[in-house]
Order: sequence, then structure tokens, then C-alpha cells
Amino acid sequence: MEKIHLLKLQQGIDTKKEGIKMERVIVLNADYSFLNIVSWKKAMCILAKGKAEVIKYQEKIVNTIDKTIRMPVVLRLIKLIRTLFRTKVPFSKKNVMVRDGFRCMYCGATNVRLTIDHLIPKAKGGKSTFENCVTSCRECNHRKGDKLPSEIKMYPSKMPYQPTISQFLQEKMKNLGVEDIILESMRG
Ligand SMILES: [Zn+2]
Repeated sequence: MEKIHLLKLQQGIDTKKEGIKMERVIVLNADYSFLNIVSWKKAMCILAKGKAEVIKYQEKIVNTIDKTIRMPVVLRLIKLIRTLFRTKVPFSKKNVMVRDGFRCMYCGATNVRLTIDHLIPKAKGGKSTFENCVTSCRECNHRKGDKLPSEIKMYPSKMPYQPTISQFLQEKMKNLGVEDIILESMRG
């Protein structure tokens, strides 16, 4: 209990890098690709089960009554999670926007109200799938209306595709700005 109490004191303190909270621990797959960010409780659990090794510790040391604890900042799984690479992201409007980087695929606008455009319009039998949906600002969506791309000469900047979980995790890593920390851990 004592240890847990002390560890809790660390919560809310930022490390020097990128504002990642100290109680957050980066979990890498066995091949060093980014998997997730978990709470220190979850991290301790993974470590206790022998499922991961510590790649990098925090500089700060926590002293408890009987021992010194170094909190991990990066863990690496012993066993590669392979299924994740092949797992398809479930279809949702939100996930279409994540795939497209929250950007209109027609005009490139960001920071505008975004909608989902069906390449083959629903009125013409187009389905709500990753392959037929792109992120679009309201203006572009309105302009395209119920037309096929070829009819109105509006094509998305990138053809839509079914993303995998692993692609989503890579995006997440970029957005969190944790690439530096991971590269550093791989060197050290
Ligand atoms: Zn647009």
C-alpha cells in the first residue's frame, strides 16, 4: 500500500518531453513499434506478469521505506502481438476522419466542420464503407451532392482504403509526439 501511495504522488507531474504525464507509460510491441500508452498501474501489472521488459526508466527515483523504485517510461512486450497488424478498424464516421487526418479530402481544409462524403452517393447505391467514404468539408460535400466523382470532376486527394489498427496506432504515435522518446529508448 505504501508503495502505491508514493507512486500516486507522481501523478500529474510532467516529464521534460512533450508533456507526457509521468504516470503514463509507453508500451511498444516486441518489434519496437508503438502499441499504446497505459497508466502506471497497468504497466506494473504487465511487468509483474513478465510480459514486458523496461526499455527506459524515468530519471526520477521514488524512495519507499524498504526500497528504491524507478518508474518505467517505456515498456516493450516480450512477445510480438501480430494479430493487431491485420485487424481491421471498424467502420465509423469518426474512424474515416481519423484515417483522413481530420482533413477535407477534396480541398484540404482542416479546422472546419467535417462531414462524410460517399464517393458513390447513397442515392446511387453507394455503401457506407471505408472504401467508399471520405472526409469532406460541408462545402465540398454540398458541391458534390449526389454526383459521381467522374460526373462532377471531384476526386479525393487520396483514394479511400480500409485502415488497419497498426496504421491507426502509428498515426496516434505521430500525433502524441512520442516518436523521439521511442527512438531514444532504442538507442539507449
Ligand atoms: Zn472541402
